[in-house]
Amino acid sequence: MVKKIAIGFSVGHWKNRLGIFLEELLNTVGFDFATIEIETIDQLKDEELKHEIEKWDPFIKHFHLWGEVERQYINEKKLPFPSEEKEIIIHSKNLEGISTFKLPPNTVVENSREDNFSRILSVIEPETKICLDISHAMASGYSLNDLLKIPDLIPRVSLIHVSDFLGKKTHLPLGKGSMNLEEFKNFLEETNVSHITLEVQGKARKILSSFTILKKILKT
Ligand SMILES: [Zn+2]
Repeated sequence: MVKKIAIGFSVGHWKNRLGIFLEELLNTVGFDFATIEIETIDQLKDEELKHEIEKWDPFIKHFHLWGEVERQYINEKKLPFPSEEKEIIIHSKNLEGISTFKLPPNTVVENSREDNFSRILSVIEPETKICLDISHAMASGYSLNDLLKIPDLIPRVSLIHVSDFLGKKTHLPLGKGSMNLEEFKNFLEETNVSHITLEVQGKARKILSSFTILKKILKT
């Protein structure tokens, strides 16, 4: 089983330094694909951002939607950047109150913090894939072992967002929270997930060190 690693970034990073950062990563630790976070309609109109997205297109696998861009996508099923090859990630909490979603097939639903999987699985369509955010799941009171026992969850997970966590604190660099890396590795072996996005907040240095830890886990 091949594990792939992607880096999740906020658009703030993108605007100021993501292009430079991706170059740096590519020249140091290397990565297989990238996840781009988009939050505002203005960002969708930003020529500089469009240009960067075109430039990095071969590496971009997901657009991770937030805020008004996510609401627009859920309401209008309109892609932020027209491409059927990219996956679109939205958050489960924003699906509240609607029983069935006819979302485009390339949509992946991520578990929100303090959400539960029985609710998520009951509101999304059976064919919709799930992005399992480890920090959000732990902040919602699950253990890695609990996740393995939820009927129908693991076979539907097409992507994992990984970061460390400490109680309700999420998206910490790996090794800075309470996640047992050995347990996480065992958890991965129980799944068929082949794509993992490192979703760590903080400066480039912290992201780089988490990336190195993650690569080491996946290799051994
Ligand atoms: Zn996430």
